[in-house]
Amino acid sequence: MLRQALLSVSRSDKVKNLVETAPVTRTLVHRFVAGERAFDAVRAAEHLGTQGLYASIDHLGEDTRDPGQARATRDAYVELLRRLDDAGLAGRAEVSVKLSAIGRHLPDGADVALDHARAICEAAKTAGTTVTLDMEDHTTTDATLAVLHLLRADYPWVGAVLQAYLRRTEADCRDLAAPGSRVRLCKGAYDEPASVAFTDRADVDRNYVRCLKILMAGPGYPMAATHDPRLIELTGMLAARNRREPGTYEYQMLYGVRPAEQTRLAAQGERVRVYVPYGDQWYGYLMRRLAERPANMTFFLRSLATK
Ligand code: FAD
Repeated sequence: MLRQALLSVSRSDKVKNLVETAPVTRTLVHRFVAGERAFDAVRAAEHLGTQGLYASIDHLGEDTRDPGQARATRDAYVELLRRLDDAGLAGRAEVSVKLSAIGRHLPDGADVALDHARAICEAAKTAGTTVTLDMEDHTTTDATLAVLHLLRADYPWVGAVLQAYLRRTEADCRDLAAPGSRVRLCKGAYDEPASVAFTDRADVDRNYVRCLKILMAGPGYPMAATHDPRLIELTGMLAARNRREPGTYEYQMLYGVRPAEQTRLAAQGERVRVYVPYGDQWYGYLMRRLAERPANMTFFLRSLATK
């Protein structure tokens, strides 16, 4: 109930204004977001690097209806990639991109988003790093996978994201488990109808297991994006079963979530990548993080009460 309510207000402008103007919200934002500027994201990637961790940096923003905003987001990524290169971090940090942030919902949005995504991939190629296309709600899955295929023709290292809560994902895993294919498997963060998604958490977890088995047994590069202790353990077991060395797959977690587990795995020689969001458009991202864990909501409410 709470999860659905939070996910539905994640798209409400009224609630957005209320939450954004509450000064105490900052406390929580800073737990999950590296800062507002590219400088903050680069500094976070640097700090993660000192702990043996890798990064995937997300310039926050989604669902833009403004062509100027879509161009500004593209330019922000290009600038970020240049800064990562200058800082010598391109080997440790890539970028994650939402197609809706670079124009997918504009008139001619498919072409606009593809052009902007190409510009970002070109900048990543120059820097010597990679790009992963974040996955948004299920109405965009086919379009995102279509853009992925087009981009991969020129940039074969572009990564995809598949969401275990979607019923279609097992089949998508089979399609994408190809040599060189980078696939991030997550549970899924949007409010989806039962017609397309498993709504029971245990069913989502079971599908995650089926999908992870396919990816880990295949010839691609699986990226297990989860904080779930049982699924993290399973990833290690599947790596051993499939004789995969660390570095032929990776663990991924969110900035600010289970940091001790991130460094524990890295200390064991595993590759762990942290998803680092930055920018001032943090509202939708924050609401999805609150929806994932009631304890985060309690933390938020407690900070409201103590200010
Ligand atoms: P859960 O069952 O939600 O959580 C397992 C345990 O992890 C919890 O019991 C708790 O201990 C801890 N935990 C989980 N979330 C939190 C939190 N927010 N705060 C504190 N503790 C927490 N979703 C998409 O739909 N599209 C994407 O492109 C996408 N990219 C992602 C990239 C990365 C690197 C990661 C890690 C997640 C991404 N997600 C994405 C979000 C994902 O779909 C889940 O919503 C999120 O990861 C929570 O699921 P979980 O697997 O951690 O399991």
